[in-house]
Amino acid sequence: MKLAREVKVGPFILGGKNPVRVQSMCNTDTRDAEATVKQIKILENAGCEINRVAVPDMDAAKTLGKIKQAIETPLVADIHFDYKLALEAIKQGVDKVRINPGNIGDKAKVKEVVLACKDKGVAIRIGVNAGSIKELRKFPGQPNWTDEKWAEVMVGEALEQADLLEQLNFKDYLVSLKSDNLFRTVAACELLASKTDIPQHIGLTEAGSFLAGTVKSAIAMSRLLSQGIGATIRISLTEDPKMQVRAAYEILKALGLRQYGPNIISCPTCGRTQVDISGTVKALEEQIYSDKELIRLSTGKKIAVMGCAVNGPGEARDADFGIAGGRGEGLWFKKGEIIEKIPQQIWIKRILEEIKK
Ligand code: SF4
Repeated sequence: MKLAREVKVGPFILGGKNPVRVQSMCNTDTRDAEATVKQIKILENAGCEINRVAVPDMDAAKTLGKIKQAIETPLVADIHFDYKLALEAIKQGVDKVRINPGNIGDKAKVKEVVLACKDKGVAIRIGVNAGSIKELRKFPGQPNWTDEKWAEVMVGEALEQADLLEQLNFKDYLVSLKSDNLFRTVAACELLASKTDIPQHIGLTEAGSFLAGTVKSAIAMSRLLSQGIGATIRISLTEDPKMQVRAAYEILKALGLRQYGPNIISCPTCGRTQVDISGTVKALEEQIYSDKELIRLSTGKKIAVMGCAVNGPGEARDADFGIAGGRGEGLWFKKGEIIEKIPQQIWIKRILEEIKK
């Protein structure tokens, strides 16, 4: 695989040996600047580094400047069908436009978008989704292709578009090749990486619900990331976008590519448990992963939330600190050493205080 060339998006240099950046997409009405900014701020607090918004019409395009001014992270405009929306988005100051070669129109229109991007230093993502490739229009239903054939056609369409950008001497672009099928997605991304040094935005599309989509995405993304493929990542889930950010980081964290918050070790609970371990872990994670500062301060820390004293402090001996539950209370311990008993009501408060120390 070739090392991807570098592309600048806002403050980030993507590709090369740079960190894989986490991206998400708002599900607010972009025309409602207030709601969209509010959601982007929540995503920024969860650690999202690049935010994309849908631009379905000219009113949405004209709102982008207002949104851009109110947020800290690079803004990506997602454009389908109408190249004029892309031109307006560029005028409004977005950092990147995502266009779909399957529906953006003829070469002259794409050329106009590219020249406007060049003029303003805006990057482009050529986003190829398996469901909207031009080749599919030749078939009444779904063609009976192998994953390799899907990959070939998807990469072909991406490169056709990329050639147009290259002819205009435009290099600041990424490509994404997505499908809801993980094997097709992996085959397509691998094929592109074997042929070119174009940096890739990776992810499945329409991956599904939180659990199913995260599992599918983790399998696909680990195959790509372990080969060095992926400059940015988005885990597309039917779920709060904040959880998409979380899922992306958990994948990167598990692969040792990024750090993100603590390593929380918690027991599965059993007949000995007399406290609410699952509720405690959920509430703790909710607080940490909604606050950039708590994420930063807790990064690299190992925190234990165990159901009982039988296995708690012993099994979690290497945790920096943690709780081992009893009946409505718990043992507060540090590095395997029991410090004191504390009531369940103050567990989270105590853990957060310890993180902030
Ligand atoms: S730590 Fe205790 S409560 Fe949790 S699973 Fe083990 S034995 Fe059960």
